[in-house]
Amino acid sequence: METGVIEPLLQKIRADQPDADTELVRRAFEFADRAHAGQKRRSNEPYILHCVRTAETLAEMRLPAPIIVAGLLHDVPEDTTVSLDAIRREFGPDVASMVSGITKLSKIRYRGIDRYVENLRKMFVAMASDVRVIMIKFADRIDNLETLDALQPDKRLRIALESLEIYAPIANRLGMNEIRSRIEDLAFRHAWPEEFARTAAMAKKAIGEKAGYIERVRAELTIKLKEADIPYLQIQGRLKHIYSLYLKLQKYNCDVMHIYDLIALRIIVPQMADCYATLGIIHRRWRPLKDRFKDYISVPKPNGYQSLHTTVFCDKGEIVEFQVRTAEMHEAAEQGIAAHWKYDESGKKATAALNRQLGWVKELVERTRSIRRRETTDAEFAESMRIDVFQNRIFVFTPKGDVIDLPEGATPIDFAYSVHSGLGDKCVSAKINERIVSLDDRLSSGDCCEIITDKNRRGPSPDWLKFVVTDNARGHIKTRIKGREADALASRTPASGGRKRK
Ligand code: MN
Repeated sequence: METGVIEPLLQKIRADQPDADTELVRRAFEFADRAHAGQKRRSNEPYILHCVRTAETLAEMRLPAPIIVAGLLHDVPEDTTVSLDAIRREFGPDVASMVSGITKLSKIRYRGIDRYVENLRKMFVAMASDVRVIMIKFADRIDNLETLDALQPDKRLRIALESLEIYAPIANRLGMNEIRSRIEDLAFRHAWPEEFARTAAMAKKAIGEKAGYIERVRAELTIKLKEADIPYLQIQGRLKHIYSLYLKLQKYNCDVMHIYDLIALRIIVPQMADCYATLGIIHRRWRPLKDRFKDYISVPKPNGYQSLHTTVFCDKGEIVEFQVRTAEMHEAAEQGIAAHWKYDESGKKATAALNRQLGWVKELVERTRSIRRRETTDAEFAESMRIDVFQNRIFVFTPKGDVIDLPEGATPIDFAYSVHSGLGDKCVSAKINERIVSLDDRLSSGDCCEIITDKNRRGPSPDWLKFVVTDNARGHIKTRIKGREADALASRTPASGGRKRK
């Protein structure tokens, strides 16, 4: 028994979540330790250590005990003789359903970039049933990446590429920046070791050169904030992670010294108003670069990211990027969807945040509001943890692999308008999974939808209003029809002969 390894985990959970059921976590550890007894990983260490590290990552994300429990048990049904039924008897149906989700997910075999859409589709469909499974999968993957050296080169490359192409984009979509960065940097090192080494060396050198003046700017800003009585919580130098630096260098084909956000100064303040006050102080002291100011507080990024960004000329032509945000925004930016489990008494806040974060439209909130207004019982709370907002949504893929989320019952026309209004206007027919379908067919999660257009088409048909389900499509269709009627009216003069449709 590897009993010594579980104590630090239990202590960490107790410190962060005093009400968490750590006895349950201990029992899960003992159960998993017995099931994996005698098993070793490729690196020759006891198998249970992988399970404990997976659980540790989940605990760092401060996820509730049942998810940590499922993390400890995640490889039991697949790699030992102990069955899922035994887990269900011992830990109940909820934990068993998470573990079963992981087992199913591990059966999805990554087939390389040419099967990208297919892979991503399967992941999203799995995620749609329970997003907690994806959290456990991220934690599992991080440990696998950290111990990748023990594997054969071809297997190492496969896992690294799969992480970059599938896992990191999903973490990004869920707003989980910290997890995404960890996955990307770990995978980058194995996928392209030379580029990784070169980029890391470049970053190190540039950071060495920039660190001095960043520190001077930080010191001066500290004084200014104190003078202005702005109660900042933290001013930290934030380093860009290696993989995103690599992508940026490639994209702009430029010198690392011109990457202004290689080190950014991040200021964390208590209230939203403090963000704008801080920005005012920065802009009064240093001249901002044109077009580099971004207010992601009033207009968040599609994944929910909120912050003020600005880039300024400091002394001697040095250029520094600032990011200003509240503590709450910071937590959401680093942890994304995982942040919403915390401090959440009713599940309402998590649901509201999720809708915002995933860019989902108001209609879903409206539809679920009546359900949510009831008093929340324990059972309902447990249910809300399943992130059931996914259940009313479907994920449909473009032929290029972009994911469009739509409400249940959406048609190819809803899909087309969600991709681009021009695509909706010019739509003449559609294919679902490469089969021609009728425009009022209902899409399902995981479908790949292709819109066939005709550039001569004059715009939407009024008949489409009978079957579309999204406000977005309905709004566009109505506007275009109104515009067309106005045109027709204007051109209906004897001289021009009009532009009649028939
Ligand atoms: Mn595993």
